[in-house]
Amino acid sequence: MGAAREPERVGSTSSAFAYSLRALRLVWETSRPLTVTLLVATLVAGLAPTGAAYLAKVVVDGVIAATDDPAAKVTTFWAIVGEVSLVGLLVVANRVLSLSEQLLKAKLAHTVTHVILERAIRLDLTDFEDPTLHDRLEEARREATQRPLSLVLRSFTLARNAIALTGYVALLAQLSWWAVVALLVAGLPAFIAEARFSQETFRFFRKHSPENRERHYVETLLTREQFAKEIGFFGLGPMLIARYDEMFVALYDEDRRIAVKRHLWGLALGLLGTAAFLGAYLFIVLETADGELTLGQMTMYLVVFRQGQGAVTAALTALGGMYEDALYIENLDAFLEHPIARTAGAAQEGAEAGDGLRVEDLSWTYPGSTEPALRRVSFHVAPGETLAIVGHNGSGKSTLVKLLTRRYVAEEGAVMLDGRRLEEWDEAALRARMSVLFQDFNRFKLTVGENVGVGDVEHMEDRARWEAATKRALATELIDELPEGFDTRLGKAFKDGTELSGGQWQRVAFARALMRRSADILVFDEPTSAADPRRQAELDEQLRAILEHRTAVIVSHRLATARIADRILVLDHGRVIEEGDHDALMERGGVYASLFEAQAAGFR
Ligand code: ADP
Ligand code: MG
Repeated sequence: MGAAREPERVGSTSSAFAYSLRALRLVWETSRPLTVTLLVATLVAGLAPTGAAYLAKVVVDGVIAATDDPAAKVTTFWAIVGEVSLVGLLVVANRVLSLSEQLLKAKLAHTVTHVILERAIRLDLTDFEDPTLHDRLEEARREATQRPLSLVLRSFTLARNAIALTGYVALLAQLSWWAVVALLVAGLPAFIAEARFSQETFRFFRKHSPENRERHYVETLLTREQFAKEIGFFGLGPMLIARYDEMFVALYDEDRRIAVKRHLWGLALGLLGTAAFLGAYLFIVLETADGELTLGQMTMYLVVFRQGQGAVTAALTALGGMYEDALYIENLDAFLEHPIARTAGAAQEGAEAGDGLRVEDLSWTYPGSTEPALRRVSFHVAPGETLAIVGHNGSGKSTLVKLLTRRYVAEEGAVMLDGRRLEEWDEAALRARMSVLFQDFNRFKLTVGENVGVGDVEHMEDRARWEAATKRALATELIDELPEGFDTRLGKAFKDGTELSGGQWQRVAFARALMRRSADILVFDEPTSAADPRRQAELDEQLRAILEHRTAVIVSHRLATARIADRILVLDHGRVIEEGDHDALMERGGVYASLFEAQAAGFR
């Protein structure tokens, strides 16, 4: 729980390279043949231009020599064949590059997303509620299709240009080491500046990721169906857009400052490069005029110098992008390496069969909160017994439900089933024993049958069970009235989807909680809160029948529902303040009695 381990910072060139190796491994694991193809094509594309430049020199020199020496014609011919072949090879290599890129991109996006999803399903609810981790997950998912491949491609571009540069340097060295120095002088400062500014841009984005997150949230508010109703009614659109603009302006100034600085430096260093080229140009032409260089050599050196500069620029651009991509990989790694807090046990059964559900001295404080939501709560529900939990809003009832169903793992105190802490149980074994209706149950945009079926994934498609569960949840009529019965698709997000009312959804969710036949422990959090009064009375009767001889915990703010239970527990500010059966609690004249009086008064 809490913040994830701080990963290695993408702050230096070496860590950017470390992350590009990491990305390369991802790519390699995704498809070896495609990676090898990509690598070979990169090598070919890197070497072919140097070869072509050299052969161009042979051609020009051959043409000039051919006037005196007929043998030179043959050399020239073969040099042309060689040059054209190399150019052809380059065209092929570039095609192969872009094909393997496209294929790898699709495969890699799938691999990375799959890994992310596999990891996500092993996270605890607490992890999902940790904003840092949640952001990481969102960003990882959003960028999964782009970043890893982009980092690899940019590394390859860098490598390809480095290879080409090595070739150019080798050729230029024969002319003069001064030419090599000129090429590097033109390139290196720009290289260093690029690296520095990439880091600055990177730090800028890192520093402002909360602001960007907020801006993204405002965007979401304005473009999603589920928010449209209230935003439209309350006329929030212009206000939200104004906020959106404000957030942009706040960041833009700093963004512009960095960008302008970056480009001014780029301009100065670019001019330096041009000056270097001019110097080299003059030098080469003068050397040729003096007869020190052949015309062929002049052609070659000019081409090499110009292409060398191009390679330097391309390498720089690649490097700049690599920082950004490395940031993604850093984030992805931080997400994937987030420790699994949940250490699922292996116990198939309890230490004390028949002990039922036991809560001992249980306290719970939400991360980042100062007030505990539960304070030293203890109770025992024997097999066949029903316990009701009542209390004001925010008294900790739903928090208790999440702990009883091991959505949170108890850190102070214990929740035990048959004498064994829940976290020591094998997950599947525990799941088989329990069923739950959460207060904020999910409204899956699946068919209504599947919405019931997911309550027991092993029998998810069993229509007979859907029917039985639906009947017990008093929802048969509801299903029958839907256009396609159980096969009606719910939710408006899909074509022909039907939407249910809040109360109808709750009954479908109730049926879901009754799907699992193996469950001998039932936990219901406000199961009838959305029903109308008549339906509530029917449901109370039905609950009484369902819970007879079952081990159950039922949370309700309606005391009529609570009366079904054998015992009632009153929570207040996370503490158990009263416990007993209805009559005892009424006699006591405490919080329960006053709540009961207040509710009864409402009907008089
Ligand atoms: P009840 O179900 O009794 O109305 P809850 O258990 O939902 O109450 O909430 C108890 C307290 O815990 C409240 O003060 C609420 O603000 C806080 N709380 C509930 N859920 C969360 C959460 N996911 N993260 C942080 N605090 C929470
Ligand atoms: Mg609640």
